[in-house]
Amino acid sequence: MSFHLKSFLLCVPVLLNVSQAQIRTVPCLPENGFAERIRSAVDSVWIVDTHEHLETEEARISRAADLDFTHLFRHYALEDLTSASNSYDIIGVIFGSDFSEQERWQLFEPYFSAMRSTGYGRVPLIVANDLYGISDITTTTYEELSQQIRQASKPGLYRDVLKKRARIELSIQDGGHQQFDPQFFHHVERFDDFIMLSSASAVELIAQRTGVSIQNLDDYLAALREAVISGVERKMVGIKSALAYNRTLAYGNCDPEQAQQLFAELLSGKNLSFDALKSLQDFVMHRLVDLAEEFDLPIQIHTGLQAGNGNIITNSNPTHLTQLIMSHPRVDFCLFHGGYPYGGELAVLAKNFPNVYIDMCWSAIISPSYSKRYLHEWIETVPANKILAFGGDYSVVELVYAHSVMARRIVAGVLIEKVESGYLTEKEGIAVANRILRQNALEVFHLQGQTRKPDSLAVLQRSGNLQQWWQIHRSTEGFIRNWMVIGPFEFGSGLNDVLPPERKFDPSSKFTGRGEDVTWQKIVTGESGELNFLSIFQKNVKIKQGDLTGMAYALAEFKSAKEKDIKLSLGSNDGAKIWLNDEVIYNRHLGRRAFADNEFLDIHVKKGWNRLLVKVENLGASWGLYVRLIDPDAEIEMREFK
Ligand SMILES: [Zn+2]
Repeated sequence: MSFHLKSFLLCVPVLLNVSQAQIRTVPCLPENGFAERIRSAVDSVWIVDTHEHLETEEARISRAADLDFTHLFRHYALEDLTSASNSYDIIGVIFGSDFSEQERWQLFEPYFSAMRSTGYGRVPLIVANDLYGISDITTTTYEELSQQIRQASKPGLYRDVLKKRARIELSIQDGGHQQFDPQFFHHVERFDDFIMLSSASAVELIAQRTGVSIQNLDDYLAALREAVISGVERKMVGIKSALAYNRTLAYGNCDPEQAQQLFAELLSGKNLSFDALKSLQDFVMHRLVDLAEEFDLPIQIHTGLQAGNGNIITNSNPTHLTQLIMSHPRVDFCLFHGGYPYGGELAVLAKNFPNVYIDMCWSAIISPSYSKRYLHEWIETVPANKILAFGGDYSVVELVYAHSVMARRIVAGVLIEKVESGYLTEKEGIAVANRILRQNALEVFHLQGQTRKPDSLAVLQRSGNLQQWWQIHRSTEGFIRNWMVIGPFEFGSGLNDVLPPERKFDPSSKFTGRGEDVTWQKIVTGESGELNFLSIFQKNVKIKQGDLTGMAYALAEFKSAKEKDIKLSLGSNDGAKIWLNDEVIYNRHLGRRAFADNEFLDIHVKKGWNRLLVKVENLGASWGLYVRLIDPDAEIEMREFK
C-alpha cells in the first residue's frame, strides 16, 4: 500500500465536517406505522409450507364421531404432557377411548395446566380461540370444544383451515410413497429403509417390495434407483431423510470395494460389527444423494430435536453432515427444524455451503423465542434466499393453522425489530418476509417454474456478450473428453520447472512422481468435461495422506480438416501452462476454482493432427481442468486413445 499526501489532504475537510456533525448511528428512521404495515404484509403472504404429515381429509372425516378435545393435543402436545406427567400409562388412558370424556379430562387437566405454557401447549389454545371461538380450554369449555371439533369434520375442512384461515397455498407432505390432492399438496419421499441396512432379512424385504433380485450391492443400488424413479413418476419434489432418529448424521466416505465386501458378508448371514454396518449405510446414503443429483431433487434432512420422548440429541447435530454436504456440492440440502438447539451450527453451514438451506419447519412451536433469536441471526449471516421459515409438521389440520399464526408472529416480530433498529428498511424487511415464507420454497422445490438457478436470470436471456457466453457454457459441445493423464509430480518451484512429460510423449514411459512412480493413464471424462485429478490420483500415496499439492499433465490430440483460427476455452484449478504443437500458448500461475469457460484463448490449429499438452498445478484442495474447443465448422475430430 502506498501513501498519497494529496488524497490525505483531500480527506481532511471531510474528517473535520464529520467531527462537527452529529454522528448518526441509525441510518434511517422507519416511517410511522411501519410495524403495522410489516405485520399486515407478513399476514398476507400466501405461504409455501415445506413440511407436513397431514392425514387426508377423508380419513379425518371418517373418524369424526370419535373425536374430542384430545384431538388438538395429539402429536407434539402429547409429548409435553408425557414430560409433565412422567407417566406413559396416564397419557395412554387420556388418549384412549376406554373411559368417559369427563374422566379423561380430569386426568388431563393437571398436566395441561403444567404444559400450557410451552410452545406445543399454545397451539391448541390458539385453535380453540381462533377457529372455535373458545377463549380458553377449561373444565367448563372442553365439551363444547369436543363438539365443535366433531362438527367441523366435514368436507371443505381443509380448504377452510389451510387456504382461508392459514393462507397456505401449498404444503410439502412427508407422507410416504403416494400422490396427494394437488390442490393442497406436493410431496417428498423417504428411502431411509434402504440406508438402514442391518441384516440379510432386511435386504430380502426390500427385494420382495421392489421386485429386484438382490445378489450383491450393485443389485441393491439398482433397487434403490428403481424406488427413486417410482417416486419421480409420482412427481415427488424432493427426498426426505429422518435418520437422526436411528443413528448419527455423520456419513463417512466408504470405498466401493469395501462396501461390496461388507454387503456380501451381510447377505451371507454374517453379523456385522456396528462400525462395519455404519460404513455400509454411509456408502448407500452417498449413493442416494447421487440419485438426488441425477434427478435434480433437493434433500430434506432432519437435524436437531427428535419427536417423541427419549432420543439421543447429539446424533442429530447438523455439523455431522459436513462431509456429506461437501461431497455433493450440486445437491441442495434443506436442514430441518432450525437445527434446534444447534442454531449457530446451522448458521455456519448455510453461510459456508452454497448448497445448504435452513428450514425452520416445526421450530416456531418448539420454541418461539429460539426461532426469533436465530431468525435474527440467520438474516444477518445467511443470504435471504436460503431460509425457509415455515413448515407446519403436523398430522392434525387445525394445528397447522395455529402453527402458521405463531410462525408469522415470529417473522413479523423479527422484521419489525430489524426495521426499528435501522438494520433493514421497511421495504427490505417485507421482501425478506416474502422470500422466507414463500418464494424460497418455490425455488428449492422447483415449483411454478421458479428456481434460483442461473437459467432464470433475465440478463442471460437477452442478446449480448453474457448470453453468448451462457449459450456456450450451458452446452456440452466441444469439450475435450479423451485425455492421457500423468501425475502427480512434485510442485517444485512451479509451472516453469521442466518435468519429463513435457520433453517427449511416450504413452509407455514411467517417471518418478510424488511418493511413487507414475505412468500415463487413459481418461474419458463425463459430459460435463471435468477432468478431476484428485479422483484420478486417489490411489496415490501422497493424495491418500491428504497432501494434495503437485503438478499434473493432460494430453489430447485432435484433427482439423484445415489450418485455421479457433477459440479454446479453459477452466483450471489452479494455474496452468499449455502447449499447442510444442509451442507455449498459455502460462499462468494463480489459485482458483475450476469452471468451464473461465477464460477464452485464440488458438491457431494446423491441418491434420494437433497435440495439446496442459500442465495443471495444484496449490491445495480441489484439482481439475476443463478444455473446450469452439470450432464454428464443427469438424474437429478428437483422438480416442487406446
Ligand atoms: Zn416432520
